[in-house]
Amino acid sequence: MPLEITRLSPSTIQLRQPKASHWEAPFLFLLFGTDRALLLDTGATADPERLPLRETVDGLIADWLRTHPNSEYELVVAHTHAHGDHIAGDGQFAGRPHTSVVGTRVEEVIAFFGLSDWPEHPAVLPLGDRNIDVIPGPGHEPSAVVFFDRESGTLFTGDTVYPGRLYIRDRVAFRATIDRLIAFRDAAGPDLTVLRGCHVEMTSTPGVDYPVGTVDQPDEVPLDLPPEILDDVRLALDAAIDPSGKVVRDRFILSYED
Ligand SMILES: [Zn+2]
Repeated sequence: MPLEITRLSPSTIQLRQPKASHWEAPFLFLLFGTDRALLLDTGATADPERLPLRETVDGLIADWLRTHPNSEYELVVAHTHAHGDHIAGDGQFAGRPHTSVVGTRVEEVIAFFGLSDWPEHPAVLPLGDRNIDVIPGPGHEPSAVVFFDRESGTLFTGDTVYPGRLYIRDRVAFRATIDRLIAFRDAAGPDLTVLRGCHVEMTSTPGVDYPVGTVDQPDEVPLDLPPEILDDVRLALDAAIDPSGKVVRDRFILSYED
């Protein structure tokens, strides 16, 4: 089943696993630099017959190389976090030439990106002419990271912030991550224009989400969120939690799991 491809710019591609192949329907991103491309996440399905991720990415890279020839062009396969719906397709990249697949344990993430004093300090992943900031983001999941692409002004927030249910597994770490992202956003100023996470679960009715497992979402909201949404998430972290363990806001729902 083909992935849905949206070109956000000639060098920034959004991929979505179709709902019909897996209800989680995660978004993935492929960013091209002069020396290497960066794939963020590998989807919820391992089987290339059901999700031809490797074939899709190879085709997109071949397209890119037609106008940017480079016989040594590299691919880095990284993850927003280690949950199954974001790493299932990793195996499709095994043995691919000039390719690094980043491990999913915290120590592996720290080592690959050269992060110091986890989770305090960001690192930079150079793609050649394009630099990606890698910001530690534990709270939803221990090895979560957030990526900032200076070229498109996009903060790729994974499952930490998106229009849906923000599952908080570690309250202290999650709060510190939101504070870290707010500080990063404030330092970036107008260079940071949009947030893109990995799922859409909210309907077009404010505060109303689709039930878990929904396959058909004709009324879903767009994926992109404004930078100010981080302030709303921060405020919601201090709000009263309802009896079902949730804090409901128009564009997201905090969902406490502890
Ligand atoms: Zn997810």
